[in-house]
Amino acid sequence: MLDKECLFCKIIEGKIPSAKVYEDQKMYVFNDIAPKAKVHLLAVPKTHFALLSEADGEGFSMLSHIFEKIPQIAAEYGCEKGYRLVINQGEDAGQTVHHLHVHILGGQPLDW
Ligand code: AMP
Ligand code: ZN
Repeated sequence: MLDKECLFCKIIEGKIPSAKVYEDQKMYVFNDIAPKAKVHLLAVPKTHFALLSEADGEGFSMLSHIFEKIPQIAAEYGCEKGYRLVINQGEDAGQTVHHLHVHILGGQPLDW
């Protein structure tokens, strides 16, 4: 289920433009609009939830699929030498978009 008010749901539906790099039935991947590394992709499940603690069976099935696909997508888009995955969860983590998303960062050596 998508949420009419959610930015990433609108991106998934094509109501807001995005630089898409990959899409299938369960996930959508696009370039972050304010990249924090040479490569900065966002992978999102095609169902709306903000937090892992809110995910249901469908959400976890989509997340499992996302993690299966990430190695191939990352390698294809410039992260063949490695990458970092980040999932911000809630206020203290600085989560700003409340649709769960996996940041894929790479294309350069990353400071810890
Ligand atoms: P987070 O802070 O973990 O919630 O990450 C949200 C991310 O979404 C940030 O890295 C933003 O730069 C990114 N973002 C916000 N709006 C857009 C947009 N319209 N298209 C692509 N990325 C976006
Ligand atoms: Zn959403």
